[in-house]
Amino acid sequence: MRNEKKSKELVLVGGGHAHVQVLKSLAMKGPRALRITLVSDGPTAYYSGMLPGALAGLYTAGETEADLVRLSRWAGVRFVQGRVTGLDRAARLVQIEGRPPLRYDLLSLDIGSVTRGADLPGVREHAILTRPIGLLLEKVETFERNFTNRDAIRIAVVGAGAAGVELAFAMRARFGKKIADTTVTLIDRGEQVLPDQPASVRKAIERALDSRGIAVRLGAVIERVTATEIECAAGAPVPHDLILWATGGGAQPAQNAFDLAQDPRGFIRVKKTLQSIDDDTVFAAGDMIHIDEHPDVPKAGVYAVRQGPILTANLAAMTTGGPLRAYEPQAGFLALLMTGDGSAVGSYKGFAPRGRWVWKWKDWIDRKWMQKFDPAKLGPSPVMMRAKEAAAEETPGEDDAMRCAGCGSKVSGLLLEDTLRELAIPPNPRVLRGLDSPDDAAVVRIPAGFATVQTVDSFRAFVDDPYLMGRIATLHAASDLFAMGAKPDTALANVTIPFASDELMRQDFRLVMSGIVEELNRMGATLVGGHTTEGSEITVGVSMTGLIDEARVATKGGARPGDALILTGAVGTGVLWAADMRAEAPGRAIEGAIASMLQSNEAAAGVLADGTAHALTDVTGFGLLGHLAEMLEASRSADAGRGTDADGGVGARIIGAAIPVLEGARMAALRGTKSTIDPANRERVLARWSVVGGTEPLGTLLFDPQTSGGLLAAVDESDAARVVEKLKSVGYESACVIGSITKREGVIEVESQKGAARNQPATPARVPA
Ligand SMILES: Cc1cc2nc3c(=O)[nH]c(=O)nc-3n(C[C@H](O)[C@H](O)[C@H](O)COP(=O)(O)OP(=O)(O)OC[C@H]3O[C@@H](n4cnc5c(N)ncnc54)[C@H](O)[C@@H]3O)c2cc1C
Repeated sequence: MRNEKKSKELVLVGGGHAHVQVLKSLAMKGPRALRITLVSDGPTAYYSGMLPGALAGLYTAGETEADLVRLSRWAGVRFVQGRVTGLDRAARLVQIEGRPPLRYDLLSLDIGSVTRGADLPGVREHAILTRPIGLLLEKVETFERNFTNRDAIRIAVVGAGAAGVELAFAMRARFGKKIADTTVTLIDRGEQVLPDQPASVRKAIERALDSRGIAVRLGAVIERVTATEIECAAGAPVPHDLILWATGGGAQPAQNAFDLAQDPRGFIRVKKTLQSIDDDTVFAAGDMIHIDEHPDVPKAGVYAVRQGPILTANLAAMTTGGPLRAYEPQAGFLALLMTGDGSAVGSYKGFAPRGRWVWKWKDWIDRKWMQKFDPAKLGPSPVMMRAKEAAAEETPGEDDAMRCAGCGSKVSGLLLEDTLRELAIPPNPRVLRGLDSPDDAAVVRIPAGFATVQTVDSFRAFVDDPYLMGRIATLHAASDLFAMGAKPDTALANVTIPFASDELMRQDFRLVMSGIVEELNRMGATLVGGHTTEGSEITVGVSMTGLIDEARVATKGGARPGDALILTGAVGTGVLWAADMRAEAPGRAIEGAIASMLQSNEAAAGVLADGTAHALTDVTGFGLLGHLAEMLEASRSADAGRGTDADGGVGARIIGAAIPVLEGARMAALRGTKSTIDPANRERVLARWSVVGGTEPLGTLLFDPQTSGGLLAAVDESDAARVVEKLKSVGYESACVIGSITKREGVIEVESQKGAARNQPATPARVPA
């Protein structure tokens, strides 16, 4: 996407109720100078209003979560998945677990809360904490999978506030349907259910609890929890199989590392403008804040929701210089509590409406809220539209036009030097001239007895996280070396950074280079030089040199009829990225695809490239069939293709059902999503090979270009099971046999289901280009 000129970096931490609004609103009408990055510890964010409904089985998990990856793509916001662990306010850095920090000009925090009062003995071991709310559904599902008694279950919900009450109803609904003897007990140390609600609402809820057989135990001061019981200061212990601990919101421990003023409970103290009281560049919203003027704002999503527009306006005003707005909490709010059976109780100004219509009302409000953040319902992305218009007009902005394109549009030397100094590149005595002793080119001594293996790859931004771009591009380039059985030795990087302010360009360059160097260090290779330019988007090219013992080169030729074909990783990255570009790919699918691209092929090559594989290659841009075709062509004997089946030619049979596919890719392919390279990949193979079978969506996946894909190996059939087991044991969980080498020269048979290809006609029909 064409880069709009950016000069300030806004980092949003957490995809909470306030931040999803900020994302959407700033994309639509925020200052163009602002570059926005969202850091979230997961690809989705749960909407608390619907979560009890999901637990009750009234919604699917997907209906209750905002897809932060898709929303970010729609909003033109960079998405970084990671857990924020601290701040360095002096250097304006956000520290993120396991990756380099992010620099900010403006920072906004919306990370929610954790469950308060969970430090009693046994609670953390034996109870499910209800906050962070994003983990709750998954934890209950895991419990349910492992709970084998289908006759009886005893559930305790601790905390009789709104969340605890809804959870008690949800548990009754969820387990009552499946287990005849389901006991639910709602426990609280106080003397009332819903102490903050008027008597009319309390009564309505008490009646509903009673009618659904939910026991209520009040005035129960819990002292400890064991694997089987909840022990109270007085009275009989409460036996349990499952406990949900819903005792309200406490401060996230991470906040202690933020070096921002806190209240005695650990919540971040903010002004009414939602700025930290001791740093105007840091904003915060939602459960995590304390406002001195409004100390009693409850830890409820409805308040975070109302803070969203104020936060948006103030972040924009900090960029453009306008006045800041003050947040005033609402005096009261409409509360709608579901009872898990298609009914609900409301609470508004002392009234307690109840019944099925109240549930329908709540359902309508909640769904309408979720639709606001679903890119499928939002219409075209304003950021993508602007980029398209700019590309169509081909009128670079004033600054663009004046940028010098000579000297390869090189970026400032200062920026380069500073960044390269920061990189942790271990010394390598064989590098005679490298980055620590720069010259016109790198000079590297090759150890005696070795040959060099060289490769280069380059990518335009497909993930918008520069650090991940650096890592993936390096792994992709190294994959060629691993497929040859070589050891990566040195690398050159060719990086294009989008034109922006010096600080922003510095940040991008630092992140790309950290990613590259991190992966090089991991594989024992040294960065010895490179080239950096300005452009409209991030591009990362990595050229690598590896070392190999000439006698041990693993090639893609050598496959023999009867060999088993083993694939070490799932396919589908091209389809998923095509969907992602249109904000159509589910965030969880993108998360899975990134994890797969970040898996190095080094250990797989260790299993396959020692002579075990007769032929070995990596699956990248030409797709699985493209690389298989290359393997087959390289494996033909000299007089292949002249006559009968037995003339030394080879073909392959692929078992479609066996091919590992990344989550979400098959669905995207079914919808007709394809990489733009798909037609060229088909043409290239079909010009030389007859591909029999392979109906859609399998066809799309077979020709799908892969980024940092797995290895494809032809292995002696008798050894295949052992090799697959070995690959799995070193971390390649998707590794499997996907077919075999045949004697049918010029033919690749694709069995959509096991055995299907045997029924194909003798003159094979080609898959459509
Ligand atoms: C069972 C239950 C039901 C509830 N029902 C309601 C209701 O009906 N109405 C209501 O108003 N309130 C309800 N609440 C309260 C509500 O959940 C919270 O008040 C609300 O979620 C707070 O919103 P938030 O924006 O502060 O943070 P959250 O919605 O909690 O979002 C925080 C986000 O930050 C991410 N995050 C957390 N830590 C980090 C980190 N270190 N780095 C990066 N990302 C991070 C999280 O993954 C999450 O996506 C309920 C609570 C529970 C437990």
